[in-house]
Amino acid sequence: MYTDYKQFLQKELSDIKEAGLYKDERVIVSPQGAEIEVSSGKKVLNFCANNYLGLSNNPQLIAAAKEALDTHGYGMSSVRFICGTGDLHKELEKKIAEFFGTEDTILYAACFDANGGVFEPLLGPEDAIISDSLNHASIIDGVRLCKAQRFRYENANMEDLEKQLQAAKDARFKLIVTDGVFSMDGNVPPLDKILELAEKYNAMVMVDESHSAGVVGKTGRGVTEHFDAKGKVEIITGTLGKAFGGAIGGFTTGKKEIISMLRQKSRPYLFSNSIPPLVAAAGIKMVDMMSATNELQDKLHSNTEYFMEKMSKVGFDIKPTASAICAVMLYDAKLAQDFAAKLLDEGIYVIGFSFPVVPKGLARIRVQLSAAHEIEHLDKAVAAFEKIGKELGVLK
Ligand SMILES: *Cc1c(COP(=O)(O)O)cnc(C)c1O
Repeated sequence: MYTDYKQFLQKELSDIKEAGLYKDERVIVSPQGAEIEVSSGKKVLNFCANNYLGLSNNPQLIAAAKEALDTHGYGMSSVRFICGTGDLHKELEKKIAEFFGTEDTILYAACFDANGGVFEPLLGPEDAIISDSLNHASIIDGVRLCKAQRFRYENANMEDLEKQLQAAKDARFKLIVTDGVFSMDGNVPPLDKILELAEKYNAMVMVDESHSAGVVGKTGRGVTEHFDAKGKVEIITGTLGKAFGGAIGGFTTGKKEIISMLRQKSRPYLFSNSIPPLVAAAGIKMVDMMSATNELQDKLHSNTEYFMEKMSKVGFDIKPTASAICAVMLYDAKLAQDFAAKLLDEGIYVIGFSFPVVPKGLARIRVQLSAAHEIEHLDKAVAAFEKIGKELGVLK
């Protein structure tokens, strides 16, 4: 039975390769960090992890996780509502709500699950979801699982959002959904304007803070902090897999009735295992650390500013950013691939992105800054960019 299907897949896979879209995985043999070792034995400076605060290999988080292994064991072997709720899960949920200034939190195995399970239990065919065109894949999938009417507005375009809100005016309940940081440009949506429109058209607002939590806002509370809108957004989703330690886990935090309903009806919560206690314990430690000091956020912000300024000075075309994502625009897909490959030879690990991940003709290298980077790392990266930029004719 498999013969025909095997041939079919082989053909599809070779088509993907021919189109230059086949994703190979580089194998890392060291912990995640500013400097990593890859399986060839080469050491490179890492500028493509979501390790914004450098917490992926933080000794205090590791100690908290190790301690929880001794006190709470390895796994829960259960979903939350049967026998998978531990004291650490409850404590982390409370801490996350305190951190964002929300009422309650529900944990998931990943933010992909949080987004996959947030719409269907809350909205029905009488309702409308108005979603940014560049929202994360997990939001798109979550919306697909829900029977609500769908409206899409151009990325961060408030005129179009208003048009869509008018089109959705007959819906019973309306929910505007946006990423907090769009991962390819690093831009932040104008949440102040979104909230004005939400008020005008009687809509609720959901923000996915996955790339913004820990990063955006003076103390890393995300775009709701950046726009002074704490408590004004009904739903926030986020991940523990990026700035917040980088292990695994996601959450939805917001109005308490919404969270209560998700605990009753959200399928990825009801039918999937609890996060391991050690992850919850490290998460608690992480929130405590971030509530005690802004040291890491301050370092991340100054690293980002430093890098952006140096790269512009050298002559690169840099997209303005409000996050720790810096898009170095090269426009040409092959150039972006070649540039990234040559940077790797120089010991700088970055990824080139081209169509279909970004629009045609807008290929770029995405640089992700981290509080784990030191100034000499940043200088080394800028020097390598400058060298390859000249070699490939991008810089004069
Ligand atoms: C990374 C990301 C997710 C997925 O988070 P996981 O916890 O890794 O599943 C969801 N939404 C956005 C906006 C993201 O950037």
